[in-house]
Amino acid sequence: GAVIELDDLTKHYPGSQLPAVDGVNMEIAAGETVILVGPSGCGKSTTLRMINRLIEPSSGRIRIDGEDVTDIDPVRLRRRIGYAIQSSGLFPHMTVAENIAQVPRMVGWSKARIRDRVEEMLDLVGLDPREFHSRYPRQLSGGQQQRVGVARALAADPPVLLMDEPFGAVDPITRDHLQDELIRLQHELHKTIVFVTHDFDEAIKLGDRIAVLREQSHIAQFDTPEAILTN
Ligand code: ADP
Ligand code: ADP
Repeated sequence: GAVIELDDLTKHYPGSQLPAVDGVNMEIAAGETVILVGPSGCGKSTTLRMINRLIEPSSGRIRIDGEDVTDIDPVRLRRRIGYAIQSSGLFPHMTVAENIAQVPRMVGWSKARIRDRVEEMLDLVGLDPREFHSRYPRQLSGGQQQRVGVARALAADPPVLLMDEPFGAVDPITRDHLQDELIRLQHELHKTIVFVTHDFDEAIKLGDRIAVLREQSHIAQFDTPEAILTN
C-alpha cells in the first residue's frame, strides 16, 4: 500500500485570494522517490510543510502508513519523518553535533549510539567531524549548513524523507555526491522520499516519478522520468 496518501489536500492561507494548494491527490509507495517540480510559489513547500505537520491543511487529509497525521503524536512523527529544507533550519544556539543529535535524543537513543551516528552522518555529507563537530551554524558557509541540515534529517534513520531544495546552496561537486548518496539510501534502505526542486535535471536524476506542478499545485503530469522526457 501507499506510505503517503494525500487526499484532496488544500491550503488556503488567510487573506490570500486563491488557495496555495488546491485539492492535491497523490499516493506515494514504499521506497519510492517522488519529485515535486514546478515554478516558485506553486505550493511545493506548503505541501511538504503540511505532510510534516508544521502547518494545518484547510481541508483534505494526509495519511502516513494509513494513519491520519493529525493522530500521530509529535515524537512518533519525528521518528517516521526526516525533514531537510533549503535554509537548513539549524538551531543557531546549538553546535553542529547537537543539531544532528536532536532527533535521536528526542526519540531516546543512547549517548554512545548518538555519538557514533553524528560522526557517521558528518562523514556521509562530506564534513570532517574533527573540524565541524563543535562549530555553530553561523561559523559555516551556506552549503555547509545545508549539508548539516541533511545530516540532521537522516540522523534518526526515518523511513520517510521530506526534502525541500536541500542541495540548492551546495557546490556542484558536493551536490552530485549528495544526490548519489540519496539514490543509495533509496536503493539500500528503501526510504520513501518526497523531494522538492525547481531543477529539472535534478528531478530527472533522482525521481522514480515526477509530479510536474502548475499554480496552486495543480498536477500537470505525474509520471516516470522516461515518460516525462518523451512527452
Ligand atoms: P513553492 O514552495 O512552490 O515556492 P510555497 O508553498 O512557498 O511555494 O508558496 C505557495 C503560495 O503560498 C505562494 O503564493 C506564497 O506566496 C504563499 N504563501 C506561502 N507561505 C505563506 C504564508 N505563511 N502566508 C501566506 N501566504 C503564504
Ligand atoms: P519544534 O520541534 O520545536 O516543535 P518545529 O516543528 O518548528 O519546532 O521544528 C523545529 C526545527 O526542526 C525546524 O528547524 C525544522 O527544520 C526541524 N524539523 C521539523 N520537522 C523535522 C523532522 N521531521 N525531522 C528533523 N527535523 C525537523
